[in-house]
Amino acid sequence: MITREIYNDPTSVDTQSRTHEHGWAVESSHSTSMGRVLYVLCDACGARRVDLQHHTQVPPAALSKDLI
Ligand SMILES: [Zn+2]
Repeated sequence: MITREIYNDPTSVDTQSRTHEHGWAVESSHSTSMGRVLYVLCDACGARRVDLQHHTQVPPAALSKDLI
């Protein structure tokens, strides 16, 4: 079974390349000593990003810039 997580991140603002609020879907993830690393994709524009989630009760934060 494949589980997809989708979330919006209003802190993800790239004023030069962004024309909409990305809706991030988790493509894959793995656990590290710092937390869970998420590889996310915006289905609308194809942008990708790497996020880090320190705790399951805390929203992920961007580790990389949006890659379009
Ligand atoms: Zn997008």
